[in-house]
Amino acid sequence: MDTVIQLGYLASAVLFIFGLKRLSRPRTAVRGNLMSSIGMLLAVVVTLFNADIVSYWVIVAGLIVGGTVGALLAIRVAMTGMPQLVALFNGFGGLASLLVGAATLEEALDLANGADLDVEFLSTAALTVLIGSVTFSGSVVAFAKLQEIWRDLGNPTVIRAANIGLVALSALLTVMIVVGPTSWWLWCLAVVALMAGVTLVSPIGGADMPVVIALLNSLSGLAASTTGFVLGNSLLIIAGALVGASGLILTFIMCTAMNRTLVNVLFGGIDTGGVVANGDEIYAGKITSSSADEVAMILDTAERVAIVPGYGMAVAQAQHAVRDLTTALEARGVDVVFAIHPVAGRMPGHMNVLLAEAEIPYEQLKEMEVVNPTFPQVDAAIIIGANDVVNPDARENPNSPIAGMPILDVDRARTVVVIKRSLSPGFAGIPNPLFALDNTLMLFGDGKAAVEDISTALAEL
Ligand code: NDP
Repeated sequence: MDTVIQLGYLASAVLFIFGLKRLSRPRTAVRGNLMSSIGMLLAVVVTLFNADIVSYWVIVAGLIVGGTVGALLAIRVAMTGMPQLVALFNGFGGLASLLVGAATLEEALDLANGADLDVEFLSTAALTVLIGSVTFSGSVVAFAKLQEIWRDLGNPTVIRAANIGLVALSALLTVMIVVGPTSWWLWCLAVVALMAGVTLVSPIGGADMPVVIALLNSLSGLAASTTGFVLGNSLLIIAGALVGASGLILTFIMCTAMNRTLVNVLFGGIDTGGVVANGDEIYAGKITSSSADEVAMILDTAERVAIVPGYGMAVAQAQHAVRDLTTALEARGVDVVFAIHPVAGRMPGHMNVLLAEAEIPYEQLKEMEVVNPTFPQVDAAIIIGANDVVNPDARENPNSPIAGMPILDVDRARTVVVIKRSLSPGFAGIPNPLFALDNTLMLFGDGKAAVEDISTALAEL
């Protein structure tokens, strides 16, 4: 039976790796997801053959409760709440590792009855408890911050200093477990590491949370991997390593797209550098308001249109209205592309997911590097709820807090139409000189309603 289980694990690992590879391209992503899901199903099924399982009833009860909660969450959580959900999932992963690591170590201590335990086992079990605890409490804080139910613990500098102390203490307790394992050291480590997770995430700016969540995702993978060593489960080691590595890659992609370092995200706010310009001075007398009728007339004569979605499109849930407008424009012979910034929205791939949900073909989605050189040939760039990712200050003002962040060069299009509700700033909290340019028209309103109004006006032309 053990051979069957190991072969099943091997097949699962292969399915995970090929599934992950396919997830990197939109065209193959659905198949990749399916392959990975089959891999997980296979892993679960062969694990059920394990002779060490004591009670199948507990497993069935867990499956029913967990499956129901998971399905309800997946159905009910809005796209805008997805980062919180991912944070919770990471947290549960961390908690599972913490519990398995602690329970296995407790059992081993009982069985050893004072005899020496293997150093490799002790170190991986201690690391599992350490990383699992940090991931769990850090993820819960990240969830609470995104849900806006978290109250800051106090002065961030003091909290960060406390965090450094707690991390050092956790490292010391890990060593204590390896050299002289006791139940007492184990639970001290769990408590101190839980506190370290809280103090790590608490001082981080709420808006930086998506990067932190990607990092916590990576940590949850690492915790799963060390759990695999503790249990001698090769599949857990591989799957955890895949999650750990991909989470880390994602973290760095996000940091690069925001022109920030991970250290800056973890230990400094977005407002630590640069000078925030005064919005009133930038906008005074330079804002041109427009109407859906006027925008429809511009689109009527356009040959090439670039649609730039941002966080506001997610908030307004305007993706279906955008699809309808695209269809109407294409019926008039207009060439429509979607310009996608890597960190538009609040999580990587946010825009791609929304547009895919509205069945907009992947071929129409153009990445920043591809679309940027084409903006001078674009007759109209329609920006729907995007702000920071189209802020020309990032490119032109070295003193801007977002200086150096790569942006979509929409200001180079012939006409720019910005759809948003007001002149409020975006995530970075800074004004956007794009709104005051001569070739920019502001169409104030909710993203979905505004796009629907343009479609109606276009149909009436
Ligand atoms: P921004 O956060 O810069 O701006 C969003 C804009 O949407 C706001 O200015 C808001 O203006 C508008 N908006 C909100 N609700 C609506 C609505 N119902 N209808 C129309 N407009 C609306 O978004 P971007 O996508 O341009 O940039 C993303 C930002 O998030 C970047 O700064 C990025 O660094 C950051 N970030 C992204 C991550 C990711 O992984 N994607 C991770 C971490 C950070 P108004 O209130 O006037 O309507």
